[in-house]
Amino acid sequence: MYDKVLVTGGSGFVGKRLKLIKPDWVYMSSKDCDLTDKQEFSDYLRHVNPDAVIHLAARVGGIKEASQNQSEFFYLNSLINLNVIHESYKAGIKRVLSCLSTCVFPDINDRYPMTEGDLLKGEPTRTNYCYGYAKRNLYIQSKWYSKEYGVCYNTFTPSNIYGPDNKSDFDKGHLISSMIKKFDEAEDGDTLTFWGTGNPLRQHLYVDDLAIIIPRLLEEHTSDLALIVAPNENLSIKEIVQTYYEIEGKNLEIEFNNKLDGQYRKDGSNQNLLNLINNFKFTSLREGLELTREWYKNNKV
Ligand code: NAP
Repeated sequence: MYDKVLVTGGSGFVGKRLKLIKPDWVYMSSKDCDLTDKQEFSDYLRHVNPDAVIHLAARVGGIKEASQNQSEFFYLNSLINLNVIHESYKAGIKRVLSCLSTCVFPDINDRYPMTEGDLLKGEPTRTNYCYGYAKRNLYIQSKWYSKEYGVCYNTFTPSNIYGPDNKSDFDKGHLISSMIKKFDEAEDGDTLTFWGTGNPLRQHLYVDDLAIIIPRLLEEHTSDLALIVAPNENLSIKEIVQTYYEIEGKNLEIEFNNKLDGQYRKDGSNQNLLNLINNFKFTSLREGLELTREWYKNNKV
């Protein structure tokens, strides 16, 4: 049981939802401290004096942003991760749990769903290449600090995440948040155009499921497995849009522009996670979409 837990990325989408479950933890944003500046973070750590860190902060973006700003994504995420792990170690913190993403997985694998052991098997997909490598380095750094320095630094690997409070992303191109906005603004008879062919398969994790799982991982996850956190549902983008089309109930035409598809599939197995946290029941995509829609309708500006 940890007394004082610091959450980096506390002002972000996942951080905000985690705060609803664990309000007593310390949630930092870039206003409190710039994680690319190691001295600033070192001073901040000594000021807060946590006994565990949950590291969520990252330069995050949708497929278009990440693919067009590869160098920036590599540089900022690498700096942030190096500083969080190394300065935590220097401050004597024994526990750091860090967040990866299924973008770390190889673009193509010989079997699906992928497992934690597939993480470094081939190069990450082109559209998330630098983001993927920066996250892979976070996995390696955590693993070796644990082996060599007697700390418990490890990682978990969520699939795409969606849900309430993803407001900052409604214009940035994460599929579900931009889809909800598009449907909301459309009028009967409109045509809605989506990126790509609609064929790629995606697992979508409801954010509040992750917010419940993270505190359990902090306490119970002690191995170097980059534990995959993803529901079993692995649906094509067309199926996801169709599900939301049925929920929204407007009379619309749907088309795909056949540009920039991204990775075809990157589904991960949740078996190791479920072995650890005893058959957690994930929110179904339909239910999660309904909850997110309700949140969006009540919170749009
Ligand atoms: P987000 O909403 O974009 O939030 C990013 C957070 O990182 C914010 O709190 C931001 O602070 C902080 N941050 C960024 N640069 C910083 C810096 N230089 N110094 C200090 N703080 C900084 O991201 P998210 O969607 O919550 O993602 C959380 C984690 O989940 C990330 O590690 C991401 O890679 C991972 N993940 C996300 C998804 C997804 O679909 N969203 C999927 C898989 C994995 P400010 O608010 O002050 O800018």
